[in-house]
Amino acid sequence: MQNNANVIIIGGGIVGTSLAYHLAKQGIKDIVLLEKDYLAAGSTGRCGAGVRQQWGLKMNCLLAKESIAEFEQLHEMIPTDYDLEFKQKGYMMLAYDNEMVNQYKRNIQLQQSLGIDVEYLTPQEAKTIVPHLNTEGLIGATFCDKDGHLNPFTTTLTYAIGANRLGAKIYKNTRVLDLVREKGKIKKVITDKGDISADLVINAAGPYSKGISKMAGIDIPVFSERHQILVTQSIKQIQDPMVISLKHGFYCQQTPHGSFIMGFGDPNELKGTDTTSTWNFLEEMAQKVLPVLPSLKNLKVVRQWAGSYNITPDSQPILGNSEEVENFYMAVGFSGHGFMIAPAVAKAISETIVGKEPTVDISMLRLKRFEAGNLIKEPSVV
Ligand code: FAD
Repeated sequence: MQNNANVIIIGGGIVGTSLAYHLAKQGIKDIVLLEKDYLAAGSTGRCGAGVRQQWGLKMNCLLAKESIAEFEQLHEMIPTDYDLEFKQKGYMMLAYDNEMVNQYKRNIQLQQSLGIDVEYLTPQEAKTIVPHLNTEGLIGATFCDKDGHLNPFTTTLTYAIGANRLGAKIYKNTRVLDLVREKGKIKKVITDKGDISADLVINAAGPYSKGISKMAGIDIPVFSERHQILVTQSIKQIQDPMVISLKHGFYCQQTPHGSFIMGFGDPNELKGTDTTSTWNFLEEMAQKVLPVLPSLKNLKVVRQWAGSYNITPDSQPILGNSEEVENFYMAVGFSGHGFMIAPAVAKAISETIVGKEPTVDISMLRLKRFEAGNLIKEPSVV
C-alpha cells in the first residue's frame, strides 16, 4: 500500500464511498479509502435502503431531496452495469392520533415550501394506494411519490467505481488499527497493511466510529444499537410504496423482485456492534405488521439479519472536523437515515473542505452542539 495520501477515508459504506466520489469530483487528488472488510459490509449492506423526503426539519428535507435527485441521476453520473433497483413508488406514513396528524400537517407545509411534493391522505385515499392496508384506527397519512428505495450494495459499488474513475484508491480488507496524533494533528494512520500519512483523515466508520475517534483522542457521544430486519419470499406486486407506522414502529416495503423487506425500531435492543439475529424479532415483527397489513400473514420468511444504527443523543449525525484535532473529520452517527442523506452530506462536506459554500447548510451538525446543549429536534426519526 502507498504510504502517503492527501485524504484518507476510514470506512467503505455509503458514507465513505459517496465522500470519496464527491471529494474527487471537487478536484481533490490522491484520495485513499480504507475498508476493513468489503464495500457495504457494515450497516449499509444490512439496511432497508429506504429514501424519503418526509422530514420535519428543513435541513433534513433538503439533504434527502438533494440525495434523491442524485440517486435519480446516478446511472448517468457514473455509468456502470449495476442495476440500482431504484423503485420510486413513494413512502406512506400512517397517523393514528391527532398529535401525529398535526405534526404531519406541519411537516407537509414545510416540505411543500421546499418544493417537495407531499400530500395528506384520508384513510380511504390511503387504501386506494395500498389496497391491502387495514384502515382500522387510522386517522390519516402522508404520501410522497418520489420517495422509495434502492439496492444498497449496487449503489455503494457505483459510488466506489465513480470515485475510482476519478483517481481515488480503494483498499479493501485493510483495517485501521490506530491513529498517531502529534501537536493537534493526525500524523499517521496505522493499518494491518502498513502505515499511511495524510493531510486529512475522515472517520466514516459507521458503527465503529466511536472507536476510530478514540484512536484520535476524541470521545464522541455515539453508541451503536442492533436493528433487525427480514425478507420474505417473492409474490406478485401488491404494494407500491414503503409503509411506515411510527405508532407501531415499523417500516415495510415490497422490492422490485416481489419480496417484502421489513423491520422495526426497539429502544430496548442490544447496544454495541453485535449483529446476531433473534427468534423474538420474527415473532414481534409479525405482531406489529399484521394488524396493519394483514394480507402478509401467510408469507414465508426467507432470511432475517441485523445491522447497527450509530446513534447520537439527538439521533442526528456528527459532521465536520473536531476542534481538538483540526485535520480529523467526522461523518458519523447517522442513526436509521444515513443511506438516504449520504450523497448530499458527502457533497456538502466536500464543498466545505474545498472552501465552497455548501449546497445544504450542515453547520448545525457539528460536534460542539452537544457541549453547547443545542440538541436538534427532528420529529420524524424512526
Ligand atoms: P457503514 O455502512 O457501517 O460503513 C462503515 C464501514 O466502516 C464498514 O464497512 C466497516 O467495515 C468499516 N470500518 C469500521 N471500522 C474500520 C476500521 N477500523 N478500518 C477500516 N474500516 C473500518 N438508512 C436509511 O437511510 N434508510 C433505511 O431504510 C435504513 N434502514 C436501516 C435498516 C437497518 C436494519 C439498519 C441497521 C440501518 C438502516 N439504515 C437506513 C441506516 C443506514 O444503514 C446507515 O445510517 C448507513 O448505512 C451508514 O453508512 P456508513 O457508511 O456510515 O456506515
